[in-house]
Amino acid sequence: MAFELPPLPYDYSALEPTINEETMKLHHDKHHKAYTDNLNAGVSEGGLEGKSIEEILGMASQVSAKVRNNGGGYWNHDFFWKIMTPGGSQPSGKLADAIAEFGGLDKLKEEFNAKGAGQFGSGWAWLIADENGKLKITSTPNQDNPLMDCVFDKGTPILGNDVWEHAYYLTYRNDRGAYLKAWWDVVNWDEAGKRFDGAKG
Ligand code: MN
Repeated sequence: MAFELPPLPYDYSALEPTINEETMKLHHDKHHKAYTDNLNAGVSEGGLEGKSIEEILGMASQVSAKVRNNGGGYWNHDFFWKIMTPGGSQPSGKLADAIAEFGGLDKLKEEFNAKGAGQFGSGWAWLIADENGKLKITSTPNQDNPLMDCVFDKGTPILGNDVWEHAYYLTYRNDRGAYLKAWWDVVNWDEAGKRFDGAKG
């Protein structure tokens, strides 16, 4: 079974004005589609058929650059669409408690935005639950993610923001900081909470 491009869980224009329709169309239909197609090609070239995407990411150090990069791109974007929602939401439950322990939501946003702004070139900013179930803010280059065996900060992704220029350039131009700040308006904290509840630790 080849990997398939998952549909967006809302309309292309649903995240406006934070992320505009044109950005969403290109990002999903072109970029995410290309990661999916190239992942399938790499999986077949590498004889990795039958493995789940999580299994592939967990052995990222042993696969081709094509599979690592496109497998990351495939998983990261599926996650990204799900952890956003029109109008956003607020943290609740166990995740809200963990955020309070972290130092509060303002501190978390500030650190996350700084990680995203400080990621040189393309990559992602992450909120993860580490092996002890504690919240941690990290970043990765390219399409690497915290599920890969070869990244420094491994853990369960709770939130992730795409800081590739294709994610924001049509609206925010070179102002990655403005995009990072605005992005919180569409964060799906209910989905993030489910990920946190399911994390080990
Ligand atoms: Mn992207």
